[in-house]
Amino acid sequence: MKHSGFRKPFVLSALCAAMLLPGVSAWAVTDQEILDDVKTTDQIVTNGMGLQGQRYSPLSILNTDNVKDLRPVWTLSFGGEKQRGQQAQPLIKDGVMYVTASYSRVFAVDARTGKELWQYDARLPDDIRPCCDVINRGVALYGDLVIFGTLDAKLVALNKDTGKVVWRKNVADHKAGYSITAAPLVVNGKLITGVSGGEFGVVGKIEAYDPKNGELLWTRPTVEGHMGYVYKDGKKIENGISGGEAGKTWPGDLWKTGGAAPWLGGYYDPETNQLLFGTGNPAPWNSHLRPGDNLYSSSRLALNPDDGSIKWHFQTTPHDGWDFDGVNELVSFNYQEGGKTIKAAATADRNGFFYVLDRTNGKFIRGFPFVDKITWAKGLDKNGRPIFDDSNRPGAPGGADKGKSVFSAPAFLGAKNWMPMAYSQDTGLFYVPSNEWGMDIWNEDIAYKKGAAYLGSGFTIKPLNEDYIGVLRAIDPKTGKEVWRQKNYAPLWGGVMTTKGNLVFTGNPEGFLQAFNAKTGDKVWEFQTGSGVLGSPVTWEMDGEQYVSVLSGWGGAVPLWGGEVAKRVKNFNQGGMLWTFKLPKDLVAKH
Ligand code: CA
Repeated sequence: MKHSGFRKPFVLSALCAAMLLPGVSAWAVTDQEILDDVKTTDQIVTNGMGLQGQRYSPLSILNTDNVKDLRPVWTLSFGGEKQRGQQAQPLIKDGVMYVTASYSRVFAVDARTGKELWQYDARLPDDIRPCCDVINRGVALYGDLVIFGTLDAKLVALNKDTGKVVWRKNVADHKAGYSITAAPLVVNGKLITGVSGGEFGVVGKIEAYDPKNGELLWTRPTVEGHMGYVYKDGKKIENGISGGEAGKTWPGDLWKTGGAAPWLGGYYDPETNQLLFGTGNPAPWNSHLRPGDNLYSSSRLALNPDDGSIKWHFQTTPHDGWDFDGVNELVSFNYQEGGKTIKAAATADRNGFFYVLDRTNGKFIRGFPFVDKITWAKGLDKNGRPIFDDSNRPGAPGGADKGKSVFSAPAFLGAKNWMPMAYSQDTGLFYVPSNEWGMDIWNEDIAYKKGAAYLGSGFTIKPLNEDYIGVLRAIDPKTGKEVWRQKNYAPLWGGVMTTKGNLVFTGNPEGFLQAFNAKTGDKVWEFQTGSGVLGSPVTWEMDGEQYVSVLSGWGGAVPLWGGEVAKRVKNFNQGGMLWTFKLPKDLVAKH
């Protein structure tokens, strides 16, 4: 294989030498460290900066008063001809940063200097089928391993010191359209992953593996009718775990190619001991071919991490006809109401509605629009089910080449897409990277063919406003009130982070990493990174100083699928850089 791990000799420091002692590993990432990630400030060992995915840092060395002095300390190029979208969140452990890049690559980097320690390039076959760019969203750390998913639907575990492969496991058949782009997560000693491929009529699934050796522990298909199974010593335990009745919410055999891919991965809530995952569109996109709710597509699922059984589901777009998916992150948070603590979870859906659920049972608490224009539904009923506007569902082809075209807002790229929002424990607000756009959409006939696109729809995305598409919003989940907004010319496609320093960080396709005052929305800092920022920023503390890191590299789904919007952003330059900033110690002292 074209293995390029261990490209450069690894310099042994006294600390590293100690870690290499047999049976002694100071480094080894443990379950407890993963659980504690939300409060530790000197390392980041989970995607989401904590298993609940709040992307909130308790650090306040850097704050609205001194953020103007935040400055770059190093940058690293991902190199080569392989650029395109860079969408990962870095992880940091013992002064080393682990990050993925486009084309299923992993880099280990000295977090103090930016020196590359090793690089791993997955050898990808020519016939991979990524729907929406060759991106990756990050690694998981466990024990001495760095684990990630590839565009040919494999999990790969690398030694954290050398980048050499420790194990590799095939999760699904890439020739059928499966791939992996999400960061896996580790919960109670289990490595959990989703899969991508809803545009190819795959059957979505969530699976748990033994992170030490890649052995399958359980599998949970996300289309109603398929059985889930638990495995022991590599053998299927006979009585499967039902995921509902085949054909109940799907006509005929369509559940066999139903999509519902949980392509964005998920999070874990330790308070209720459940995995919270989202699922993508039902396949095909043409909804007239599959009357019914099409469970569990475009839904949020709570799973038991022990066996993958579904504890509850909440479907944001039943009978999805717009590719709204339902993958967007469901973020656990608690709030006080009437003297009681409400264990809630919030999600900002592609379909334009923001939902607050009771995460103990999946019941709808409230929901409201978070973008300015929604045409496909008139609102939500008391259970959170959309009240459809039937005249705004794209029509059935009815023997013609195409059915009635409708203009629908939001566009299928979503009021908010994959890019994670952040929740501040100080302000009680969610910071939501949203987009204002619509689309002409129509249906066509389609038949399933293994490995071929399975849409049965055509579309053209269009901006709703001349001067902006992106809107970073601060949203109060208790009232639905938008507290502030910041507009952006290009569609926002990067993750958000918030800190105890009253700061909100995010990047834009124009190339700026930006910081805002979390209470007022005032822009307090920005830095031009050289290419569009689609990654998720992180912050941590090292040697008494606060650092911020983010990836830069334009690409992702917008240039590929964005119609008239893609034309607007066609001159944006690609890239592939990892940037790190800090607030120098002497400048902190001045304030
Ligand atoms: Ca989709």
